[in-house]
Amino acid sequence: MCSRGKLLQVLTLPAFNDNYIWLLVESTATVVVDPGDAQPVIAALDELQKPLSAILVTHHHWDHVDGIAELVEKYQCPVYGNTRVSADYLLQGGETLDIAGLLQKVQVLSVPGHTSDHLAYLIGERLFSGDTLFSAGCGKLFDGTAQQLLNSLEQICALPEQTLIYPTHEYTQNNLRFAKAVEPDNVWVDQRIEQALQLRGQGLTTLPVRLVDEKRYNPFLRSRENSVKVAIENHIGRSLNQDVDFFAELRRWKDNF
Ligand SMILES: [Zn+2]
Repeated sequence: MCSRGKLLQVLTLPAFNDNYIWLLVESTATVVVDPGDAQPVIAALDELQKPLSAILVTHHHWDHVDGIAELVEKYQCPVYGNTRVSADYLLQGGETLDIAGLLQKVQVLSVPGHTSDHLAYLIGERLFSGDTLFSAGCGKLFDGTAQQLLNSLEQICALPEQTLIYPTHEYTQNNLRFAKAVEPDNVWVDQRIEQALQLRGQGLTTLPVRLVDEKRYNPFLRSRENSVKVAIENHIGRSLNQDVDFFAELRRWKDNF
């Protein structure tokens, strides 16, 4: 068959309270995204009896980077990230990476908002979204702006509907409680709540998730929907005009929820 290697497989490595480290495994390459902790990555690679080929980093927060040094020392693999990460390859977004041994090329997206220099990685139909897009939610604004985050989510929404989203956190159930408060009559919210309850009840992850589904119940991808706009205005008790103002108030509502 294909001499370049077998198709991609993605392993879910839980870390800390609610983080996931995603490990992409092909027969000829292994790539980790946001290794906040080295130990789960090393344990998985030991089991596979494979070395690590590369590290992709979405942004500089500790729970995404603290395992990098140990992994680089052990595997001497290159690190890809922005200027606030000690990376061998500095990225801004828009690049296409050809990682040695990896079957598919990696497209780098600039998705600021959670931080002003946040990146996401698109590999085939899989988007590793870091802390930009979660299931039923999105990242908080640290040093990015509401306008940046709104633009970034729109950029993600323009990807093919079957795109699989791999966020860094298992925040789905908490996010859905907020989605229910924003859109109490949205049946897709109820379906996702039921699905998440079953998955978590079995100790399983709710991720990845398809973009087409997120568009149905994630309020942060729906801030232009009339039902969401009305809910925001009712919550703050005044009317708004600009899309970015609706989005900023929605984010603030969630911050205080
Ligand atoms: Zn973060």
